[in-house]
Amino acid sequence: MEHPENNEEYAGLQVNAGVEQPSIVNPYLSSMRKKRQKLFTAAEYVDGIIKGDISKLSQAVTLVESVHPDHQALAQEVIEKCLPYSGNSVRIGISGVPGAGKSTSIDAFGVHLLENYGGKLAVLAIDPSSEKTKGSILGDKTRMEKLAVHPKSFIRPSPTAGSLGGVARKTRESIILCEAAGYNNIFVETVGVGQSETACHSMVDYFLLIQLAGTGDELQGIKRGIMEIADGIVINKADGNNVDKAELAASHFRNALHLFPMPDSGVLPKVMTYSGFYEYRIDEVLKMVFDHIAEVKKNGYFDYRRNEQAKYWMYESINEHLKNGFYYNQLVKQSIGATEQEVLDGKMTSFIAAKKLLDLYYSTLK
Ligand code: GDP
Repeated sequence: MEHPENNEEYAGLQVNAGVEQPSIVNPYLSSMRKKRQKLFTAAEYVDGIIKGDISKLSQAVTLVESVHPDHQALAQEVIEKCLPYSGNSVRIGISGVPGAGKSTSIDAFGVHLLENYGGKLAVLAIDPSSEKTKGSILGDKTRMEKLAVHPKSFIRPSPTAGSLGGVARKTRESIILCEAAGYNNIFVETVGVGQSETACHSMVDYFLLIQLAGTGDELQGIKRGIMEIADGIVINKADGNNVDKAELAASHFRNALHLFPMPDSGVLPKVMTYSGFYEYRIDEVLKMVFDHIAEVKKNGYFDYRRNEQAKYWMYESINEHLKNGFYYNQLVKQSIGATEQEVLDGKMTSFIAAKKLLDLYYSTLK
């Protein structure tokens, strides 16, 4: 169309017809994004998972980790349908402070396990710090070079979530999906600090504690609670001129373990040294773990522990739902800040404030 300014009044001015502005965004990008968000039905995920389709498994784990309510609902449906196919695995928790050699060891344990025992291996993680660092420290594929390229392995970094309880629940649910996909060995890696070990212990059949020698006071530094939940203790980096120190540390641990009452499993935790990096005695460590598991399967503790864990997770889920229901409630959200300030100003006691907020919450449920 001729532009209205191209008349005699505007002589000397030529206005050309415009061209449509190209989008600044790569058109392929939006279609790629749409593709990534495509959701399947619960039955399609389950079908893929049961066939061992890694990409469907990955996507389902992503759903489990999502905070989107639609994704969560779909994830719960997938988990429920996968439940009958789950449970047939050995779940092993592996813990140690940063630098203890967890990723180096898991790489070595994992490859030896797959080569010598067969089957498939999934490596999951519980890392409560991953929310803060916005990136997971644990379960990262780049940290487990050999295992990452092994066709029978599946490695997932820790989910990120607001609380340790949330992270742990997601890992627990991912275990179910991995088992349904035929992963008959599950490693759950966790950092050896704080409550994450207890969370890990609540979902595994065997809890392995990786320790280091050398400081001479390792027993003082170690928390009593963690000694009590360990099914086995291994001293890593028993190589070079560290061998003697590692052996000495092992005997200290053995002596210390005798001071504790017999664990519920009825099997005394074993202590041994190894080297994850040089792959010394990796097979012995695996044998120690599997011998223990065979023993607790025989004496009934294996099933007992799984039942106790199922019970624990039922109550954990209830607690989490109640907590979320309360804190995400609109009315509660509106008043909690002001009530907190009244407590800080000394105008209200903590207990009355709590009761007032809870009453407010209960009033919305009627
Ligand atoms: P993580 O933080 O517990 O996962 O520890 P890493 O596996 O990343 O190991 C920490 C450091 O210890 C790395 O530099 C490893 O190369 C080293 N390391 C791990 N295992 C061994 C071992 O068996 N012997 C020796 N000498 N070094 C090791």
